[in-house]
Amino acid sequence: MKIKKGDTVVVTVGKDRGKRGRVLRVSPREGRVFVEGAAQRVRHRRPRRSGEKGQRVTMPGPIAIGNVRIVCSACGKAARVGFHMGEGGKQRICKKCGVAIA
Ligand SMILES: [Zn+2]
Repeated sequence: MKIKKGDTVVVTVGKDRGKRGRVLRVSPREGRVFVEGAAQRVRHRRPRRSGEKGQRVTMPGPIAIGNVRIVCSACGKAARVGFHMGEGGKQRICKKCGVAIA
């Protein structure tokens, strides 16, 4: 998996193109990620008890993993990810500057 929870990514398609955010959740089976502030959708929550009000809750929707690119922590650019065997095993590296991504 090239993208992990906690990474900063930039969305490359759709109405949120260019938006940056942190990855909140990765769903490897579906190949999707949930990015903070991107692909927002509004869920309407019904009242549970009488007297309580329904609520509208905004939350990020799923984005296909191919539609986001990781933002390199070293050079700050949206880059593709390569792999490299370093100390501590497999490391992800930035294809633009060659530095390992945290
Ligand atoms: Zn870089």
